[in-house]
Amino acid sequence: DGLRLATQLKNMDTLRNTPILMLVDEHETHLMLKGLDLGINDYLVVPIDYNEMTARVKTQIRRKRYQEALKSNYQQSISMAITDPLTGLYNRRYLDAHLTNLVNQSIQNHKPLSMLILDMDHFKQVNDTYGHDVGDEVLKQLSQIIIKSVRSSDLAARIGGEEFVVLLPETNRNAAYDLADRIRANIASTPFTINHPEKEIMKTVSVGVSEINQQGDTPADLVKRADKGLYQAKNSGRNKVL
Ligand code: GH3
Ligand code: MG
Ligand code: MG
Repeated sequence: DGLRLATQLKNMDTLRNTPILMLVDEHETHLMLKGLDLGINDYLVVPIDYNEMTARVKTQIRRKRYQEALKSNYQQSISMAITDPLTGLYNRRYLDAHLTNLVNQSIQNHKPLSMLILDMDHFKQVNDTYGHDVGDEVLKQLSQIIIKSVRSSDLAARIGGEEFVVLLPETNRNAAYDLADRIRANIASTPFTINHPEKEIMKTVSVGVSEINQQGDTPADLVKRADKGLYQAKNSGRNKVL
């Protein structure tokens, strides 16, 4: 039964958008109407004219391709709007949009929320010594270390040149500090691979940590305290978590 088959195809996730052409006899107009109701895309009356069929099939294929292109452009522009193209981490815009939500959730649910701001130490030297491309490579590797160190429920974003933020839901300051210090120690002890005769370089990071204070804290307060920790870490010798 053609109509039954068409219904089944339209109910399958993978075939839902596949165009269906129905063949009907001249005196089967009621079936044709039923088919169109079910979502069949077009119909041909038998006996079929071969050229007519080719033209109709081509139209359906063209339309399907056009829809697919629209969809993939749309998905691409969404992912471009929220991710940093160099590292694939979330960008500042995405972080800003979600920070408020996460702070509100944390306060409403009386659950901790912590933030890390992580900045590579003397990163400018990498660019100055080895060039901007090597600098980019180091940033990509740094992003990978960050991503591998956090949970999937954490939000990691690149917010500027060599500056990263990680938001850690359901994590208090002590746990956030421990995580940050593990990341710091890991970076300090593992060389970055570079495309240069020297092959490897050692770098360090400084990190500021803050936790939401359940009494009327704002997202800006959380950022300000983490920033202050980062500033102190830099000023007291770098390669530190504060
Ligand atoms: P500090 O230890 O105080 O953090 O020193 P720093 O050299 O890391 O910091 P500074 O802010 O002086 O320099 C950051 C440099 O990052 C300057 C800028 O040219 C570079 N930078 C920013 N964005 C990019 C990028 O996308 N790729 C590369 N390769 N470099 C970048
Ligand atoms: Mg830096
Ligand atoms: Mg910086």
